[in-house]
Amino acid sequence: VTDPNCIFCRIAAGEIPGDIVYQDNQVVAFRDIQPVAPTHVLVIPREHIASVSALNPSQAQLAGALLLAAGAIAEQEGLSEAGYRIVTNTGPAAGQTVFHLHLHILGGRQLGTMG
Ligand code: AMP
Repeated sequence: VTDPNCIFCRIAAGEIPGDIVYQDNQVVAFRDIQPVAPTHVLVIPREHIASVSALNPSQAQLAGALLLAAGAIAEQEGLSEAGYRIVTNTGPAAGQTVFHLHLHILGGRQLGTMG
């Protein structure tokens, strides 16, 4: 299910450019256009889901696939040994700006404390 008004759906569909680092039949990952760390990759489901809050139990397999892909991409990006952070902003208090579920993978520098 894709939303033609959603920028991340359009990147996943190849309608607008993205620096894609990984894709399979469920998940797409591409570099953030405004990176906040030397490595900053976004991992999204192809299916349009607004956020973690919108996930439902029927999507448990997909949610797991998203996290597993993030780990594999971090490995591919050479982050596993030093470590990295996975973040997903959900709603206004977290400053979510794109309402298509995405995991940020941040690495390549020492990361500060959370929050
Ligand atoms: P969030 O604030 O968690 O919703 O994060 C949205 C992220 O998407 C931000 O880090 C943006 O820099 C990033 N972003 C927005 N548009 C694009 C795009 N066209 N390609 C890659 N990253 C994008």
